[in-house]
Amino acid sequence: MDKQQQRVAAITGAASGIGLGIARRLARAGYQVIAIDRSPSVESVAQALRDDGLAAQAAVADVADEHAIQQLVAGIDRQFGRFDILVNNAGIHPKIAGERNSFLRMTTAQWNEVLAVNLTGAFIFSREAAPLMRRRKWGRIVNMSSRAGRTLVDTAGIHYAAAKAGMIGMTRIIAAEVAADGITANCIAPGRIETPLTAQGSEAQRAMLVGRIPVGRIGTPDEIGHVVEFLVSEDSGYLTGTVIDVNGGTYMC
Ligand code: NAD
Repeated sequence: MDKQQQRVAAITGAASGIGLGIARRLARAGYQVIAIDRSPSVESVAQALRDDGLAAQAAVADVADEHAIQQLVAGIDRQFGRFDILVNNAGIHPKIAGERNSFLRMTTAQWNEVLAVNLTGAFIFSREAAPLMRRRKWGRIVNMSSRAGRTLVDTAGIHYAAAKAGMIGMTRIIAAEVAADGITANCIAPGRIETPLTAQGSEAQRAMLVGRIPVGRIGTPDEIGHVVEFLVSEDSGYLTGTVIDVNGGTYMC
């Protein structure tokens, strides 16, 4: 792809799991990838993509740090003169101490920590990046929600479920406001995907979880990357303000 034409795609939480799968997909599809994570290991993700001859660079930043995100977006603008695609994927799901995820045991600090990363981080990043997209009358924002934002998931804490449901409402507002500028905003709501976030638990627990998934297996980060690639493509301009459920059929059950 001509460097001038190459679209710039920033993916948060790209050092691991789903974000890594998305970064690989978009880099292979010819985008200039900016892999962002608070973990410095994101540098080796970008290096591995460059070793494969793909366009990728890393940025170490915390999406909950407003100043850092403003600096990062300004830096991307200075370097590339454009900001086309934003994938707000970074997320955490700390477990609540004690049996099950009772909201009665959750502290305000635990609540704030998850909301800051999983929801406020995506808000800040979208607010900072959208004006750059607007300038070129083209943009794509993809927000990573979860099945836990769509329905009751008994392993999800109240903080996580609230942030992921909030992501869906926030996406609708963004989509409506920037629709006339050639910018789309959509959510993906994954069911269980094989990543470090979901790797804990015994074989018996895993077998029980798989037993509840109609397609009979856990999904892969690349399968989420596939949906992101579709959403950010040129031909997806009429698709906005929606949620795509990617869960092996679990949500219909
Ligand atoms: P993961 O833990 O493997 O990866 C998350 C990445 O985000 C990590 O590299 C981490 O360092 C980074 N990160 C965390 N906080 C950050 C911050 N403040 N700033 C920058 N980077 C930060 O998790 P995953 O399973 O790949 O999850 C990715 C996203 O998908 C999350 O939003 C998660 O809620 C969502 N999701 C995952 C599943 C699943 O089954 N894995 C299901 C539904 C939704």
